[in-house]
Amino acid sequence: MKKVVKFGGSSLASAEQFQKVGDIIRADESRVFVVPSAPGKRNSQDTKVTDLLYKIYGMMESNRPYLKVLEQIKIRYAEIIRGLGLKVSLVKEFEEIRKQLEKGAGEDYVISRGEYLNGKIMSAYLGYDFVDAANVIRFNDDGTLDAEETYRLMKAQLEAHPKAVIPGFYGSRKNGTVVTFSRGGSDITGSLVARAVKADIYENWTDVSGFMVADPRIVKDPEVIHTITYEELRELAYMGASVMHEDAIFPVSQVGIPINIRNTNDPEAEGTMIVERTSRVSKYTITGIAGMRGFVALNIAKDKMNTAVGFCRKALTAFEENGVSVEHMPSGIDTMSVIVHQKDFSEKEQQVISRIEELCEPDHLDIESDFALIAVVGRGMKSTRGTAGRLFSALAHAHINIKMIDQGSSELNIIIAVSNDDFENAIRAIYDIFVMAQI
Ligand code: ASP
Repeated sequence: MKKVVKFGGSSLASAEQFQKVGDIIRADESRVFVVPSAPGKRNSQDTKVTDLLYKIYGMMESNRPYLKVLEQIKIRYAEIIRGLGLKVSLVKEFEEIRKQLEKGAGEDYVISRGEYLNGKIMSAYLGYDFVDAANVIRFNDDGTLDAEETYRLMKAQLEAHPKAVIPGFYGSRKNGTVVTFSRGGSDITGSLVARAVKADIYENWTDVSGFMVADPRIVKDPEVIHTITYEELRELAYMGASVMHEDAIFPVSQVGIPINIRNTNDPEAEGTMIVERTSRVSKYTITGIAGMRGFVALNIAKDKMNTAVGFCRKALTAFEENGVSVEHMPSGIDTMSVIVHQKDFSEKEQQVISRIEELCEPDHLDIESDFALIAVVGRGMKSTRGTAGRLFSALAHAHINIKMIDQGSSELNIIIAVSNDDFENAIRAIYDIFVMAQI
């Protein structure tokens, strides 16, 4: 058994948190590859080390003195080292960073140092080898990941280091310049390591006990999802639910390595298993609910639209030409609606409308804004009768008007649109009927 374990910033924010992480790793011999983030917030007022590094880069860019902020970072690491009673010194590393800053280091180099330094401490604390991510994660010249080369490099190097710490978030181009993933990218590093070493499982340790059925800011103490498929997760993530970086899913899902979301502050909790497929029946008909506010519908009407060949294509051309992504497209006989994100659309709305007028000559065109989409997702819906019926009657009981309904052909999700004002009540009503009422 071989496990790759990734720890997020809040799991490594202080010496105390490091100790919890140490206990978790030592409790299981198979936790052999460790991917740390940079130290996160210790409390709500605190600043993440990565954000301090961004600040340094911003100061460098505008020629402002940044050494005080660098000192602040030094102190944070010194506190962790002292708290853990380690002998390790980061003097040389900070000297090198300072030199690079003076030489005008690139942004990615600067913001990646949080993970690099935390990796050094973690390696000393665990007695695991340190493998610099810059030597095993390869980016192309255009900044995209070279996955094949990354797997090759990682496999070769990690074979020589059976127990290793690989800092998250960054890698490098062939010429050695550091490149980072987008924010939260240590999740991707963990996933790449898991794939390269053919891990049995990728544990992603964070500060929640798993993926929840609904957003805890809307539903009080929602249940944790025990098992979820990659497909279900993608549907929910697309609608804004997230526990990890979206790009972290593909490397492991392609080869069927499960991800286990775990809580560093509650290591006994089983967390959520994310799997390719499962015979486990979900506890409820639905697996999760997620949604987002801020959508707009363009309603287009034209007599005899049903027989006008090419009408939809022409209407969609207007969106494509203006670079607006279309989310949904419910239609009637003589009407079609195109649903888009308000933020993508508002700047370009006049261009899109005039292009639709030109291409489609509609009888009527109106815009409805300020509504929310909610996705009710679950592999169990396919085999259960009456899911839609229960969903709609729950919303009717809550006096919520449904503006649109869309069930994907895979029967994995039902998407509904409601007004922005009804958003939270709708999610609560759906949670109540499927989870609280246990159906
Ligand atoms: N430290 C980086 C961030 O704050 C990357 C990560 O934590 O995954 O985004």
